[in-house]
Amino acid sequence: MARYRGSVCRLCRRENLKLFLKGDRCYSDKCAFDRRGYPPGQHGQRRRGKTSDYGLQLREKQKVKRMYGLSEKQFRLFLKRAERKKGITGTNLLISLERRLDNVVYRLGFVNSRSQGRHFVRHNHFLVNEKRLNIPSYQIKIGDIIEIRKKSHNIQAIGDSLDAVVRRGVPQWLDLEKENLKGVIKSFPIREDLTMPIQEQLIVELYSK
Ligand code: SF4
Repeated sequence: MARYRGSVCRLCRRENLKLFLKGDRCYSDKCAFDRRGYPPGQHGQRRRGKTSDYGLQLREKQKVKRMYGLSEKQFRLFLKRAERKKGITGTNLLISLERRLDNVVYRLGFVNSRSQGRHFVRHNHFLVNEKRLNIPSYQIKIGDIIEIRKKSHNIQAIGDSLDAVVRRGVPQWLDLEKENLKGVIKSFPIREDLTMPIQEQLIVELYSK
């Protein structure tokens, strides 16, 4: 399926949750979800009926897929890999999504959204272990060092994001050296690091039918 190119705020309203897809705007009073917290579309303000089990599972999957900006094909690939790993499939899935390079640069505060992270990674603005790496889905490893390339130090969007990261904080599994524009992976994320309300077992149930 092609990448979604419509309004991302509609996605938050559809999932009935702030997905934080628009950087700074999400924390301001311009947030569309805060202003119109009902589903988009002509019938959005109608009373919602009871949702079926399938509906709940589907919404949970869509929520996570949209949060990380993945296509259905990419998402299925992550799920398949999660199934092959030891442990709980749902947890494995969320952890491998968190370990994506585009997510890590967002968590470090180098960019203000995952989609901007993907864009900047593709345009070679980062070094991983002193080497250029332009693969947004790259799975970071413990000890990896992620830096902003010298030629990109003056990019306004990066400076603005680093100023704004204080608001959302850097997770404990990452170490940000703000003055050196560098981040180190201290450990892999654990389930408790993900504070968004996600019921990953519903996603696994959806695909196990
Ligand atoms: Fe979602 Fe609000 Fe951010 Fe729009 S501004 S993407 S509605 S959190």
